[in-house]
Amino acid sequence: MSHPFATIWSDAFKTPPNYPPHPPIQRRGNMIKVTVWNEFHHEKTQEPVRKIYPEGIHECIAGFLRKDEEITVRTAVFDMPEHGLTEDVLSDTDVLVFWNHMLQDEFSDEVAERVKRHVQAGMGLVVLHSGHYSKIMRLLMGTSMTLRWRHGDRERLFVTCPSHPIAQGVPAWIDIPEEEMYGEYFDIPKPDDVVFTGWFAGGEVFRSGCTFTRGLGKIFYFQPGHEEYPIYHMPEIQQIISNAVHWCAPFRRLDAPLDNVAVNPSIEEEYRE
Ligand code: ZN
Repeated sequence: MSHPFATIWSDAFKTPPNYPPHPPIQRRGNMIKVTVWNEFHHEKTQEPVRKIYPEGIHECIAGFLRKDEEITVRTAVFDMPEHGLTEDVLSDTDVLVFWNHMLQDEFSDEVAERVKRHVQAGMGLVVLHSGHYSKIMRLLMGTSMTLRWRHGDRERLFVTCPSHPIAQGVPAWIDIPEEEMYGEYFDIPKPDDVVFTGWFAGGEVFRSGCTFTRGLGKIFYFQPGHEEYPIYHMPEIQQIISNAVHWCAPFRRLDAPLDNVAVNPSIEEEYRE
């Protein structure tokens, strides 16, 4: 005797033939593959910056990420061919951590488009400080990404979404003794979450840590990190960037962004076959 619900429930356990799950790219050995990208220009041209980051901001960030047993790290810089962000590198990257400033206009349009495509297909992106105005972020966000700024201020960074994975293990607020002020209005699209909000001694506030989703890709923008101050040496800042790498790592990664799908026959027609 068949179950009385058999007729209406039997279809619920079928996989409709027109909607096969997209094949995910599996992470190799469950490690998160991170590429830390830095413009690496200030450190070579400005002695005070070189003193803080003798091997470059990218090596400082890569250094603390390498202590995490679940993360493998490579680095890339502006001067490499294709800025070190080739198709092969991006295909093998789960999360791209990105810092730039001086050479935003010189950054390749083609490489920026390539990064955008990989984010839409699932690659995670952590954008730091002046990277807000990178070609990559302007492409992905679609707004002007402009803000107000002033050199030489003090920041108090508040956790404003304590339940978020990126805020775990982070104090309720962090005092950054010296930082470049970034203030509102910050012309971003509405974030998914505002995980951190900065207050500056000069009076401004800023949405300092915001998450976005583009396609299958998770994005975290994080304001702290002006190159003249040792901000990426602060343990709390390192904790936030490490958390962000874990949070942005894809569960699902495609070979290409999602495309339109023509559906014929319809789902109902498939069921009746
Ligand atoms: Zn700066």
